[in-house]
Amino acid sequence: PLPDVLSHPAVIAYGANYPNRPIPKFGAYYMLQTLGEGEFGKVKLGIHSKYGDEVAVKLIRRDAVVNEAKMAKIAREIEILDMLKHPNIVRLYDVFETDKFFGIILEYASGGELFDHILAHRYLKERDAAKLFAQLISGVWYMHQKNIVHRDLKLENLLLDRHRNLIITDFGFANHFNRTTNDLMETMCGSPCYAAPELVNSDGLYVTSPFDDDPTNPDGEDITKLYAYIARTPLSFPDQLSDQARSLLSAMLIPDPRARADLATIMRHPWFAINIREITTFGLTVKELEQLAEDGPTLRRLAYQRTV
Ligand code: ADP
Ligand code: MG
Repeated sequence: PLPDVLSHPAVIAYGANYPNRPIPKFGAYYMLQTLGEGEFGKVKLGIHSKYGDEVAVKLIRRDAVVNEAKMAKIAREIEILDMLKHPNIVRLYDVFETDKFFGIILEYASGGELFDHILAHRYLKERDAAKLFAQLISGVWYMHQKNIVHRDLKLENLLLDRHRNLIITDFGFANHFNRTTNDLMETMCGSPCYAAPELVNSDGLYVTSPFDDDPTNPDGEDITKLYAYIARTPLSFPDQLSDQARSLLSAMLIPDPRARADLATIMRHPWFAINIREITTFGLTVKELEQLAEDGPTLRRLAYQRTV
């Protein structure tokens, strides 16, 4: 007889899409649809074959890991993920390897990318954006307390869970740093569209608007043009934005990294006092955040209930 988990809605949907294809299994998980594309392979939805838990499986093709440096990068991503327990940071559950793949088993963020969420809604209300921003700051503050920098924060790496809470993912560029010496990061990495001025222009004292893509340069096809654009374009805000939000964003986008608002300054800004209060993990201690993460969306061994 088939295990009950084969009547899980995601498994049934997979069967409808691929009626003749057997469901591949990876460790204890059935591998269903692709959630996203990674640098080394696909990220797939996995369903535990016995319990029905949903996970995201970041697959890394062994043949894409072409040298020691790539292997070290993947090992660092796993090591750093394993250090971090925060309600707004993706949880690492397990790692697997087969002769073809490494697999990183992660908490599943079923709401998808913030990127697609914003595209679908065209814009967010400032209050909704405030909640997500506060969750982002809470997660970033926590990782900095642990001397970890993410270095690839962008809308594609910020996911939503089923309650539309923010989940920071993709620690592929993350690294250790020394919080106390406060050295500036100068390694060019992450994603060109989100690069800070000091990364693209060594004497850059210009700034780019985060709201306005250069229409002549879609998707940063021409990197040189994109960098010139980042270094050149003055800041502009949409009309409906509050004065406090403008003030905060302007401080965060000061081109000189030493004058730019740091995390402590951001967290003290009055915009937070106005907007967040009850809705986030903002302002908790490292210990409290870790406890919350333990109590929260960990891999729940709920007996899967037959739905058909
Ligand atoms: P890469 O390091 O190659 O960018 P990511 O870790 O960012 O790989 O994963 C690529 C994409 O896969 C993400 O942008 C997202 O769309 C999807 N994805 C990754 N992790 C999860 C997750 N835990 N839950 C849901 N979707 C995910
Ligand atoms: Mg990514």
